[in-house]
Amino acid sequence: MSDSARPPRPRALFVAALLLLTLALAGVLALQAHRTFLDHRATAERVLRDNARLAAARFAQRVGMELHYTMFWPTVDALSHARAGAPGMPLPSPAKLAVGLDSAAANFLKRARYSFRYDLATRRLETAGGAPSPAARAWLLDTLPRHVHAVYDPKERLAAIVRTVDGAARAIVYTVAKDKSGGPGAVVGVDGDPAAFGTVYTLGEEKFPLLPRPLTGGVIYDSLGSAIVTDADGIELYRSPVQYEPTFAARDSVEAMWGSMPVHVSLRPDIAPKLLIGGMPRDQRPRLLILLALTAGLVAVALQQLRREYELARLRADFVSGVSHELRTPLAQIRMFSETLLLGRIRSEEERERSLEIIDQEARRLTHLVENLLHFSRSERRLTRLSPTPAPLAPLLTEAAEAFTPLAAARGVKLCTELTDGVVAPVDADALRQMLLNLLDNAVKYGPSGQTVTLSLDVSEGRALVCVDDQGPGIPAADRERIWDRFWRLERDRGSAVAGTGIGLSVVRELVALHGGRAWAEDCRPEGRMGSRFVIELPLMPQAHTAAGASPLRADAGASA
Ligand code: ADP
Repeated sequence: MSDSARPPRPRALFVAALLLLTLALAGVLALQAHRTFLDHRATAERVLRDNARLAAARFAQRVGMELHYTMFWPTVDALSHARAGAPGMPLPSPAKLAVGLDSAAANFLKRARYSFRYDLATRRLETAGGAPSPAARAWLLDTLPRHVHAVYDPKERLAAIVRTVDGAARAIVYTVAKDKSGGPGAVVGVDGDPAAFGTVYTLGEEKFPLLPRPLTGGVIYDSLGSAIVTDADGIELYRSPVQYEPTFAARDSVEAMWGSMPVHVSLRPDIAPKLLIGGMPRDQRPRLLILLALTAGLVAVALQQLRREYELARLRADFVSGVSHELRTPLAQIRMFSETLLLGRIRSEEERERSLEIIDQEARRLTHLVENLLHFSRSERRLTRLSPTPAPLAPLLTEAAEAFTPLAAARGVKLCTELTDGVVAPVDADALRQMLLNLLDNAVKYGPSGQTVTLSLDVSEGRALVCVDDQGPGIPAADRERIWDRFWRLERDRGSAVAGTGIGLSVVRELVALHGGRAWAEDCRPEGRMGSRFVIELPLMPQAHTAAGASPLRADAGASA
């Protein structure tokens, strides 16, 4: 094959590289999308955790303020009114303090264990309405001065300690009365029960929401999250009836002045995405993976197609070079012998006849080749027309064999026929001749000189079997199907001295299919010798689709062995 006939390999490689690059780009895009998704999700989770922190802070603040206004301040106020902090004044019991107060405060005071007055200067502790256990008393004596010092804010005039002491949960609510000099004099307060806090934790609509309304975009804040409140010792004071998974949860604590109770708030998971603009980022990765797999599949198909195209281009190039080669040899012969005749260089009559014979043979070969080409080109355009009519096959085969004998003889090949008489089948005589010539030509071309090629005709199971046997190298079993494809030549024959175009067998198979028959190749080893057998099987009765006469028949009506 000349270089000019070589198919454009670099272009095919370039296209293949482009396709692979496209696939790689799709991969990079998918990776980028994966990273972006992870980023978005991390951001969304951060926002939700921030929201949970905000909700916990607001919940803690709300609990503190509720306690302040509904219980702690009324208690301290009642103590102040009773001048319980003034030395020498009677210390009212919690029950007395409760008189005339709102229900929440009254309830808190009614459940309080005792009221107390602790003189910071003398360290004397008086109680009314009940008495602390020794352990609780010791704890009070120890804790009060330190708490007053560290937490009590004279401007607020109240402070609370919520802890579990001596096995009992306590809410010590107190204020500090000034002494004569205006400094802290006595601590007066009550030892209440945190169980009386009751409704301060509940998420009523009249209270401020866990998250600012603009953030929640209309979500009812009551159902926004769940909460747990403990005292400073970890003993649970409150647990909301519904508890959510702590996916987005945060801790905070009530202000020190109101008891420092830790709170734990969890956002409701299905509400969480509504807190984000555009919702929780959706995971598009499975879809992307499918798209990527599809792209990879398409690229694989495209590459496969490209490979086939390249192969076809290569075969076509071989074909062109084969055709030129096949044309050149007979033309050279014809020119040579006709020049010899024209120039009168003939020495004898015998030589003259021989020259004319050669010119005739080579012209036949050319005709045969051109007919093959014409047929091939017609079949490419799907224009093949056949007119099968019932005819005895033996005479047609004999005629073809006789026409071929000189060509065979020229190559030292003996052509035998073994024909069964009386076999009649609907055939197109020209097409049959073309098929036979193709098979005989191959048998002679690929077999050794001196071989015997046998053309036989038989009948089997209502079908006519036309066989061409040779003593050539045979066809490897793996290639017995491919040899019938257009342009296909066995590896050993490509670029060999045996010129060929690779279309002879494809023409045979196509013509046979148009007769409703089949064609195949098989081993032929008479007496253990090598060789191949090409079989054409034709129906004896007219086939429905071949009876169409001159109507154009599809050239690709596949016939398989
Ligand atoms: P070509 O013009 O190459 O002969 P064909 O289509 O007639 O094209 O044959 C296709 C290929 O099949 C040939 O190139 C050859 O490799 C192989 N082939 C065909 N007939 C024979 C045979 N009788 N013996 C060995 N190989 C054959």
